[in-house]
Amino acid sequence: MTQTAPTVTLVRGDITEQRADAIVNAANSSLLGGGGVDGAIHRKGGPEILAECRALRASHYGKGLPTGQAVATTAGRLGAEHVIHTVGPVHSTSEDRSALLASCYRESLRVAAELGARTVAFPAISTGIYGWPMGDGARIAVRTVREAAVAPVEEVRFVLFDDSAYAAFESALQSPA
Ligand code: ADP
Repeated sequence: MTQTAPTVTLVRGDITEQRADAIVNAANSSLLGGGGVDGAIHRKGGPEILAECRALRASHYGKGLPTGQAVATTAGRLGAEHVIHTVGPVHSTSEDRSALLASCYRESLRVAAELGARTVAFPAISTGIYGWPMGDGARIAVRTVREAAVAPVEEVRFVLFDDSAYAAFESALQSPA
């Protein structure tokens, strides 16, 4: 059977409010929480998420989760089954790190598929504290998801925090695949 790429949807909102099988956290390599999406997920999801992150650090990621990789924990009190933590690259003007940003989306979807998730919600990874320009971040996100065939994932939802992020993703979605 040929696999098809998931349907891509856009919503303006808060990732912590999403009902989805998995939501993706724009984590940092320590897995111990931070600002932005990361802070919001831990605040609202409760201590169970951090406890699993600490256990993952102890068992596998003593040096931190490498940039571009993804790992799953419980979603605690959130309206999702799983949180998938991925570490986006910090934007750089001297080096092209696009492949690492694409890897975050691809690896998160691979983990989601392993977990049997049908719906996956993503924030705009790296476009906050890590400084990635929104337009370029949106193009990389949309292109990578379009190229992914990751059954049983059927819906990829980008959850955009403000109007300009929504507009950037809308424009990326309208451009040819
Ligand atoms: P990074 O460190 O990967 O840049 P951030 O969490 O700082 O991650 O920001 C990633 C993007 O998520 C930014 O565009 C930011 O505006 C947005 N954002 C921040 N909080 C939320 C939230 N609660 N839900 C969805 N998006 C959010």
